[in-house]
Amino acid sequence: MTGHNAAAMRKLSNLAAALVVVAQLGCVTTMPNTHTDLNSAAERYVRLVLALGEHDADYVDAYYGPPAWRDEVKAAKRGVHDILTDARTLRDEIAATPTPSDAMLALRRNYLQRQTEALIARAEMLEGRKLTFDEESKALYDAVAPMHTEEYFQELNAAIERELPGEGSITDRLEAFRKDFIIPKEKLDDVFEAAIEGCRARTLEHTSLPPGETFTVEYVTNKSWSGYNWYKGNFTSLIQVNTDLPIFVDRAIDLACHEGYPGHHVYNTLLEKNLVKDRGWVEMTVYPLFSPQSLIAEGSANYGIEIAFPAGERVAWEKEHLFPIAGLDPARGEKYYRVQELVAKTSYAGNEAARRYLNGEINADQAAEWMTKYALMSPPRAKQRVKFIDQYRSYVINYNLGKDLVREYVERHAGNDREKRWKVFIELLSSPRLPSSLTK
Ligand SMILES: [Zn+2]
Repeated sequence: MTGHNAAAMRKLSNLAAALVVVAQLGCVTTMPNTHTDLNSAAERYVRLVLALGEHDADYVDAYYGPPAWRDEVKAAKRGVHDILTDARTLRDEIAATPTPSDAMLALRRNYLQRQTEALIARAEMLEGRKLTFDEESKALYDAVAPMHTEEYFQELNAAIERELPGEGSITDRLEAFRKDFIIPKEKLDDVFEAAIEGCRARTLEHTSLPPGETFTVEYVTNKSWSGYNWYKGNFTSLIQVNTDLPIFVDRAIDLACHEGYPGHHVYNTLLEKNLVKDRGWVEMTVYPLFSPQSLIAEGSANYGIEIAFPAGERVAWEKEHLFPIAGLDPARGEKYYRVQELVAKTSYAGNEAARRYLNGEINADQAAEWMTKYALMSPPRAKQRVKFIDQYRSYVINYNLGKDLVREYVERHAGNDREKRWKVFIELLSSPRLPSSLTK
């Protein structure tokens, strides 16, 4: 390919010039190895992510690399077009770099290349490039979500109807049934703390975390998401929980595992420990939200709930540890989770709503109606979700497709062995693996 060859030639001539300079200085040197090349590519990538973040408030989700780089980027005030030109050069140069024989270095090279490609796509979108939902998710997250017909969701509804017979729409019946499982606001912090302890203890049984790892929890309002982990570096996070809408009891474990252990907090901590501190891979100090890394992050955070609390164990644990603190009736725990399991299957209805809405086939109200009908969200929750889709677009696939891809990957490599599943899962959280490589 012409672009790649040109980049390789440019690289060779740069290298020749560098060797001349070194020779003039009278030093002895060797040819730079792939590792050195990847280190310099990594620094350029970090600076480009930071630069694009100046044009896109949601883009840089976390950064704990050298503060001077951010200051320099802020001072430079580079335009998107300029950033794009450099990013395309970087992409071509990485593509011209041979794949290292070491497996981790090969993952590193491929990660840098694909993350840079996603940066290019996001920058092009900021410049006005229009992509379909599937084109966008492929470009940004290295994955395309399967399509489901309306009949598929109608069948799921029928299964839930059998659990909740009665009058009115299924969504209304579900909402009425779930009312008894709301965590009272004044009990929220205690329940959440207990859930975090449970998730942490289970995670620490299978992996060690660096000393000092910790996070703080804050309760916030007026957000399009229900929870958020802001990674701060040095093995610390800030976790925010949105209290705009009632929080049902299952959300305690979901949020504690997803945002904390073994989800986002653990993922970021392991990347910092194993890749940044131990290997010096500076590219992991920045997390561009609209990139393939997000599918691994959200997918592993969601699968992490199942790995910490395998089917059957969760209800018993919650009935013993959370229901009493929340003041809920443990006798109805099994039924609640039986219904929840059926409702969880409707999550792909949210992808369909986003796909149709972002492709311009339906408007915001119709997207909310679709999610009320098929994802069984209450109208306020569906409205909040449309706000999320407006802000984060095809990011929605990272939760359910991400979880399914991570589950398939872990279970394919580990089978039914629980200990082995943890091992494969932790290895995934400690490497720069791409979504498209999960199926291999
Ligand atoms: Zn998340």
